[in-house]
Amino acid sequence: MSALGDRGPLLIVGGGIAGAYLAALLGSRGQQVMVFDSRRDPRADDGVGGRSINLAIAERGLAALRRIGLVETVESLAVVMHGRVVHDADRSGVSGMQPYGNLPDEVLWSVDRTAFTCALLDAAEATGNVQTYFRQRCRDIDFDLGLATFADGAQQDLWHQVPFGTVFGADGVASIVRAEVLAVNGGSVRREMLSHRYIEIEIPATTSGGFQIAANGLHIWPRNEFMLIGLPNPTGDFTATLFLEAKGPAPSFEAISAPAEISAFFEEYFPSVVELVPDIVEQYLDAPLGRLGTIRTTGWSYEDRAVLVGDSAHGIVPFHGQGMNLALESASALVDAIESHDDDLAPAFCAFEADRRDDADAIADMAIQNYVEMRDKVNDPDYLLKRQLALRLSDELPAFFRPRYNLVMFSSMPYADAFARGDAQDALLAELVAGCASLDNVDMGTAHERVRALGPLVTRPG
Ligand SMILES: Cc1cc2nc3c(=O)[nH]c(=O)nc-3n(C[C@H](O)[C@H](O)[C@H](O)COP(=O)(O)OP(=O)(O)OC[C@H]3O[C@@H](n4cnc5c(N)ncnc54)[C@H](O)[C@@H]3O)c2cc1C
Repeated sequence: MSALGDRGPLLIVGGGIAGAYLAALLGSRGQQVMVFDSRRDPRADDGVGGRSINLAIAERGLAALRRIGLVETVESLAVVMHGRVVHDADRSGVSGMQPYGNLPDEVLWSVDRTAFTCALLDAAEATGNVQTYFRQRCRDIDFDLGLATFADGAQQDLWHQVPFGTVFGADGVASIVRAEVLAVNGGSVRREMLSHRYIEIEIPATTSGGFQIAANGLHIWPRNEFMLIGLPNPTGDFTATLFLEAKGPAPSFEAISAPAEISAFFEEYFPSVVELVPDIVEQYLDAPLGRLGTIRTTGWSYEDRAVLVGDSAHGIVPFHGQGMNLALESASALVDAIESHDDDLAPAFCAFEADRRDDADAIADMAIQNYVEMRDKVNDPDYLLKRQLALRLSDELPAFFRPRYNLVMFSSMPYADAFARGDAQDALLAELVAGCASLDNVDMGTAHERVRALGPLVTRPG
């Protein structure tokens, strides 16, 4: 048995969201930790800033942050979102707010990614036990010698080696640590890439720094086969993301490349956005094209020497706004596993994967399903009727019914349980609304009886 730190230094590769959070948690337990990240220190005032990119943080992320006392700090950096603002889904120019739920805490927070990472890094360093090193790209890991090799800053041919006892791989979807771990433990990784890709576009603030569109919502312009979404930033601007087929006939990124084609595309499908973004063509041309995919890994650890956490273990597509929430919840679960195994790392790491893998797979599947819901279903009458009934049932029978979306976003019910419960509830809703034109036609007596028969909702203890 080897306890945390007995073998030698604890190294976290990747000081993004999962790595910085894990460092804060381990540091607050008194563990000495070194964090290495390939990027510059996001807190450095070197004028290399950039556009805001934001993330929706939900209950699972907040629960993880409660553990390090960071919720209020993060909420102060964020804009609260009460629901979806769906824009002219039927191209009639009409928009509407669909609240996320009936409860006051059924809200999401749109937080700037850089500001959030900085807050996590500050929290980690404030423990007094965490050292951070930036512009250090991990190149390889030698488990026999217990050495990790890092390339140094801009001079990638300059490298040095750092001895370690245990390495935590928080280095994201293209993880080097994952490759090294899988090379020695016989595990596997599967990448399932979507044919859709994305670009980010800024919807600027007004000249006085206010919001051009409703501040407290997640805006969606659904167009069936593609969509645009926008999340607010505290600075009055929105970060909008266009998700679209990469290749093939228009509309696709491949087919829309000349300024006239771009202009015609936005004028046809997103005329209200063109009014908000005068330089939309230039932004489209400048934006890097991002990839979208799911990473499913088996074999998250190697003995007591290494374990993967965050996107390196389980990358998911962004349509449920859960990748970071999953990463934070997993990092928290990893420390729980270490604690419940009295710091005996090898069994703790195995238990961690056994506890989390089904959940990671479940949210990966739900995230893909949510893409279809967001771009295609939010204006469908059957979908809207089922949603109205779902909200009414969750209001009237809160112990027995909550929409799956709300179980994922606003509870800590294990993802796999939320997935299964959601399927059962959805089948029931479909039966209850069959042949009904409106909620008035639904037999609520039968609905209550059938919902109760599903049994009470069970959330994670504690
Ligand atoms: C368009 C988009 C929108 C998203 N929106 C949301 C959202 O609204 N809500 C949500 O919950 N999730 C969202 N996500 C998912 C979220 O961004 C990720 O799940 C989250 O960032 C994972 O955190 P991580 O720390 O595991 O990985 P990352 O955030 O990718 O951090 C990895 C870190 O490792 C460093 N690194 C990489 N390689 C090396 C190396 N070789 N050596 C040293 N350091 C290295 C990187 O510099 C980085 O700092 C979104 C993702 C995308 C693509």
